[in-house]
Amino acid sequence: MLRTTAAVSLSLLLTAPALAQEVNIYTSRHYDTDLQLYDNFTAATGIRVNLIEGTGEQLLERIRTEGVNSPADIYITVDGGRLHRAVEAGIFAPIDSAILEARVPENFQHPDNLWFGLTARARVIFTRVGERPEWLDSYEDLADPRLENEICIRSSSNIYNISLLAELIDRLGAEAAEAWAAGVAHNLARPPQGGDRDQLRALAAGECSVAVSNTYYWGALAASDNPEDRSVAEAVEFFYPDQDGAGAHVNISGAGVTVNAPNRENAIRFLEYLVSDEAQTILADSNNEFPIVEGVAIHGPIAPYTAFRNSGVNVAIYGLNAAQATEIFDRVGFP
Ligand code: FE
Repeated sequence: MLRTTAAVSLSLLLTAPALAQEVNIYTSRHYDTDLQLYDNFTAATGIRVNLIEGTGEQLLERIRTEGVNSPADIYITVDGGRLHRAVEAGIFAPIDSAILEARVPENFQHPDNLWFGLTARARVIFTRVGERPEWLDSYEDLADPRLENEICIRSSSNIYNISLLAELIDRLGAEAAEAWAAGVAHNLARPPQGGDRDQLRALAAGECSVAVSNTYYWGALAASDNPEDRSVAEAVEFFYPDQDGAGAHVNISGAGVTVNAPNRENAIRFLEYLVSDEAQTILADSNNEFPIVEGVAIHGPIAPYTAFRNSGVNVAIYGLNAAQATEIFDRVGFP
């Protein structure tokens, strides 16, 4: 009798933990190709991946509401500004991982390891092909009076623009950043409408001669099944601003492990997998982004454009300066 019980317990010990191995990911990424990542990870580790999808804001709110009972192990979102909101909400615990430390460049990790970047994108300046003015070279040039009524850019309430201004506050000081915002507001070709793709469409259609967009939106248009999208991508070109100066403004998608993670070890293993060469290629290619890990191969329309200098500013700055950036946009009447 005793022996039987012992045998049963032993077999439970051997099998139960294997069955329970899982990791719960709350993510605002939803690309079909990401499924390949989860399958590969499960095949390599036996750890099952459970996905909860939603917008960054929804998922953050859900993790806060669930509190100590939250099944969330990992929160994945886009933009340093949003990662900062998660830090402020207190949902992240520091990650202790030599692999993440070594693979992710310093400026793309939180100073206290509360999050790590997974992919990168640059916010750059577009013109129609062959129509870039010789003098147009930097973000500061967007405020030049020669661009009066010439700029298409989305609303200042968008986090990408808030993060760009947040970096310029760090780079130029608040006063100069405010003068810049006022200058760009004055140069708008039309009241901001739509997302980054719509700015590129308007540029191609001749509504403005300069547009601001993240690089991956151009990649999405260039890789689109829709011939109209592809002709927009063909009509415009971009350059990386400030290559002889401070460098281009780069943002990230990134992830952190939650304070109440029920599967903390598995979560860290999963993030370590996401910075492997294999996973980095899949992550970047699925959204025409750049790998966070240097030297990893990518494919698609953006692949020829990986050589550029970024500012090296820690992305955490975008969140820290975000409130001030919003105040500046409001003060100068940037719509
Ligand atoms: Fe986006």
